[in-house]
Amino acid sequence: MKTVDWTLDELNAAFPETGETMPVVFVGHGNPMNAIEDNVYSRAWIGAGKALPRPRAILSVSAHWETKGSRVTAMERSRTLYTFDGFPEELFRAKYPAPGAPQLAALVQQTLKSKEVRPDRKWGLDHGTWAVLCRLFPAADIPVVQLSLDRTKGAAHHYALAGPLRALRRKGILILGSGNVVHNLYRLVWQERAFDWASEFDETVKRLILSGDHDALVHYEGLGENASLAIPTNEHFLPLLYVLALREEREPLSFFAEGVTLGTISMRAFRIG
Ligand code: ZN
Repeated sequence: MKTVDWTLDELNAAFPETGETMPVVFVGHGNPMNAIEDNVYSRAWIGAGKALPRPRAILSVSAHWETKGSRVTAMERSRTLYTFDGFPEELFRAKYPAPGAPQLAALVQQTLKSKEVRPDRKWGLDHGTWAVLCRLFPAADIPVVQLSLDRTKGAAHHYALAGPLRALRRKGILILGSGNVVHNLYRLVWQERAFDWASEFDETVKRLILSGDHDALVHYEGLGENASLAIPTNEHFLPLLYVLALREEREPLSFFAEGVTLGTISMRAFRIG
């Protein structure tokens, strides 16, 4: 098995600067069925994918991969992971056979050198990644790497960790955050409706994103009772912080999906740049 032994010069040669800054994308992924169902969200994701420049590779931060310490997938080929239960057989037959990118994994490690990100060769692409990418880039021909969420660290660590990844944007790498601004499975209802607290918190987050008040979002516990209902555990919220940390000053930001579904799941999605 090849170890990560490229020099920084080799990695920079493999991923030269493009002269452009790649957009960054956050997608509220919600129900895994959005991967195969035709609905307002899957259509919005398809539209967003068509509007994006073609990246050289993709780095995804998904709510569905939590580890002790940070990990980055470093295999040549990633399995499609079915990180859910109780869905129709058809969803378990869906595949997203995108290649991996061991050199990108090494570049992520080098870029986050001080943070001890270790390579992983066991994970794959969980549905936070593939259920979204199969809509954004359905051909599955762009290499994809996942960065895990270190479950031992708080929100401020995650926001700070993401910052240096800005350099990858100038090398044609699309960074995707996949989670949900509001995500409470304990109170979920299988109905197309929104609880008031969920809509209110989603609007609060929208306002804070637009005003650039990242500090309030990093310290979301201070946003009152609605925050504790919307974020009972923070793995779906953290990918949002990775994406926001990559925004350059005064960079345009546009929402391409909005709405709360199943009572407690915000489908808010946006693009920076
Ligand atoms: Zn999820």
